[in-house]
Parts: sequence; structure tokens; C-alpha cells
Amino acid sequence: MNDLEKLLTGAHAGRIADIARLLSIVENNEPEATDAVRLTYANTGRAILVGLTGPPGTGKSTLVSALTAEFRKSGARVAVVAVDPSSPYTGGAILGDRIRMRERYLDAGVFIRSMANRGHSGGLARATRRIVSIFDALGFDVVLVETVGVGQQEIDVVRVVDTVCLLTIPGAGDDIQAIKAGIIEIADVLVVNKADCPGADEAVRYLLQMLTLGSQRTEWRPPVVKTSATDGTGLKDLIDAIEQHRAWAVKSGEARRRRTEAMRDEIQTLLRERVLRDLAGRVSPKALDDVVSRVVDKTLDPYAAVDTLLGNLGR
Ligand code: GDP
Repeated sequence: MNDLEKLLTGAHAGRIADIARLLSIVENNEPEATDAVRLTYANTGRAILVGLTGPPGTGKSTLVSALTAEFRKSGARVAVVAVDPSSPYTGGAILGDRIRMRERYLDAGVFIRSMANRGHSGGLARATRRIVSIFDALGFDVVLVETVGVGQQEIDVVRVVDTVCLLTIPGAGDDIQAIKAGIIEIADVLVVNKADCPGADEAVRYLLQMLTLGSQRTEWRPPVVKTSATDGTGLKDLIDAIEQHRAWAVKSGEARRRRTEAMRDEIQTLLRERVLRDLAGRVSPKALDDVVSRVVDKTLDPYAAVDTLLGNLGR
């Protein structure tokens, strides 16, 4: 058995250190990442993939904790991916909460991973998708992807899941106005969290009204669910809504459509990476130095330099 196979066996058996190492290999695109994805891909497609997004302070991390506990009651293994596009580092502010949450679950049934920005557009969403696939392949029953805000990056990230939950809170009318443009269209389930606070029913009515105004992407009508992450109200309703959406998505072909879109993007990216690597590997450093100095000397323009390099490859 080679090292990667040993790692995969350990990760499948639920060994925390092996799972963490495997995720790092894939997240950082280390040399073993290709084999890691190849060896796990056939086992993906079983987990329930849920995204939670919404403005800061709406209770996403509290709700993720509460949902995790609720899913654990039925014995499900739960993975949490916390994504912060604003942070260039893995860890940061959300990590403290995660460590506290992890301490509550010292069993192998819960695994929490924080992810930070990959530094290039689209990179974070792709890295998140790969991490989610690994969790799925390792046999986690539920993968919860949580983002910190509601910008374009968060929308891209949260799209890697099957069911997107958008959180709002009572009295956040202005917030909803601000976010509705991009995100209400991608929400599959709308959640009014902090339903223990005054104004929850008004918030539900407001959302329902907004839904009738917006254009409908599919025949799915996003339900509006009231929850209280702190006292546990509505958690079962939210899980029911998530399961109903998943069942509909599979039956209607929406799940396949999203997966097709995601895989097209993934394969195009891999193709680009491969072509670039192959080409770069065939351009000798000397040939590159040569055209660079000619460009600096103005005997060649940069486009002609590229033509020259490709011409040398016998194009
Ligand atoms: P996030 O920024 O969206 O992840 O929000 P947090 O989970 O950090 O929650 C923000 C604050 O709201 C915290 O002080 C939570 O304790 C509180 N909170 C979260 N959910 C609820 C809820 O259902 N009811 C009430 N009353 N407070 C909540």
C-alpha cells in the first residue's frame, strides 16, 4: 500500500489526522491531489450537501452548530466547511468558534474545516467543491457549507451544494433589500432565524411577498422556515424543507443540471491547467530568456515572442 492509499484507508476509518491531511492535499492542490480525487470520485454523490449563507450576525454559525446536533441525533456523520472569502488565511476569526464547536464533538461523527481565500477568482469555489466531494466520498452523510457574507464570492461558493439556505432575521428588512438582487434567486430555502425575537411573522410575510415579485427560476417555490438556533425551535422543519428540496431536485433533474454545470467548470479548469503545464514544460528556460531579452531590447514585441516560443515547439 502506498502512502496515499494508507491515508485514504485511515480517512475512511474516521482517523481525524488522516482526514485533515487528505483535505489539505486536495485544498492546496499538492501533487497527490490528482490521485486522491481519482481514488475517491466514484464514491461521491451520497451526502446531503447544504449551504448556509446570509448577512453577518444572522446566526449562521449558531444554526450550523444546532443543525449538526440535530443531525447527530439520528446518527448521521456531519462535516462542516466554514468559508471566509475575506480572509487570506485558513483560520482567522471563525476558527475560534470552530474549535469550541469541535470540542463539543470529540467523536468521529463531526468534522469541521475552515477555508480561506485562494487568491484568485473562482478558486475558492472550486477548492470548496473539492473539499465537499472528499467529505462526501469519505461517507459523511451531511456536509454543511457556511459562508460569512452575501457577496458574489459567497454566492459562487454556496452554489457548490444541492440546497442553499438563505438566512435573515426579524427586523432586517433593509438587509434583505440590500442582498436580494443576487442572492434571493439562488436560495432554495429561506430561513428566518432568531424567530424567538419580535417581528418573525412580519419577516416571513415580507419574504413571501418578495418571492412573488422575483422571477422564478424553476417550479420550486422556496419555503420560508422560522428557526431559533439558540432554543432549537424549527430545526426539524428546516431539515424537512432541506430534504424536500433535495427530493424535488433529484426528481426534477435540477440536481443533475447543477452538477453538470459544476463539472463542466471543473473539467474546463483542469483542461486549462493541464494545457498550460504541458506547454510551460516544453518551453526551455533558455528559449524564454532569449525572447524576453529581445522584447526588452524592442527587437520583438510580446505577441511575437509568444509566436516564436510556440513556433519552436513545432506548431
Ligand atoms: P453569523 O455571523 O451569521 O455566523 O452569526 P452567529 O451565529 O455568530 O450569531 C450572532 C449572534 O446571534 C450570536 O450572539 C448568537 O448567539 C445570536 N443568535 C444566533 N441565533 C439566534 C437565535 O435563534 N435567537 C437569538 N435570540 N439569538 C441568536
